[in-house]
Amino acid sequence: MKLDILAFGAHPDDIELGCSGTILKEIALGKTVGIVDLTRGELGTRGTAEIRNQEATAAAKVLGVAVRENLEMRDGFFVNDEKHQLEVIKMIRKYQPEIVLCNAIDDRHIDHAKGSKLVSDACFLSGLRMIESTLDGKVQEAWRPKLVYHYIQWKNIVPDFVVDITGFEKQKVESILAYKSQFYDPNSDEPESPITSKTFLESINYRSRDLGRLAGVEYAEGFTVERYLAVNSLGDLK
Ligand SMILES: [Zn+2]
Repeated sequence: MKLDILAFGAHPDDIELGCSGTILKEIALGKTVGIVDLTRGELGTRGTAEIRNQEATAAAKVLGVAVRENLEMRDGFFVNDEKHQLEVIKMIRKYQPEIVLCNAIDDRHIDHAKGSKLVSDACFLSGLRMIESTLDGKVQEAWRPKLVYHYIQWKNIVPDFVVDITGFEKQKVESILAYKSQFYDPNSDEPESPITSKTFLESINYRSRDLGRLAGVEYAEGFTVERYLAVNSLGDLK
């Protein structure tokens, strides 16, 4: 199955927090989108890997993505080496996306920057035909996505561009709240973490509001790029 966009996240919920509004909008515009989570987030303060699995499935339904896979790398300890790059390359060659979305280039959680570089490196390597990979016994063809965009998650990284997600804000929050065990819950007796506070949940909303304000729209999500982006004409921009 070929997809237009493939989104990678180090943990289930990274994509929902960073770029779910954009995914919802692209799907509404007729694009096909898939998600690949690198780990099960088994080191998360609250919940279990099993619970997060169910939550990720529920969130995928809210988003309407075509597929969601998990590479079951080790939460906290995966590294950017040949073995892990090949696992990511297999996914890129399997789905042949034009655009790849991946973690923030720098963040509070060390897995985010690691996942960001791992996926970005794999996008380049995936285009080299001398690197062999097989899936289900079949040799895969080389494939390099045209564009790699990094979403923004915890830290306030200055975006290179923003996507107008006005109209998709409610569904974005719904996809985040599918991770019931992870976020603000006044009835939970599990330990607190930086993402379980009410203010964290509110910050998701005010960041998209603020990025929207700065771009002259209601809500927006920000991304950074690895190279200059060209537009066909000045009129392409809002
Ligand atoms: Zn994460």
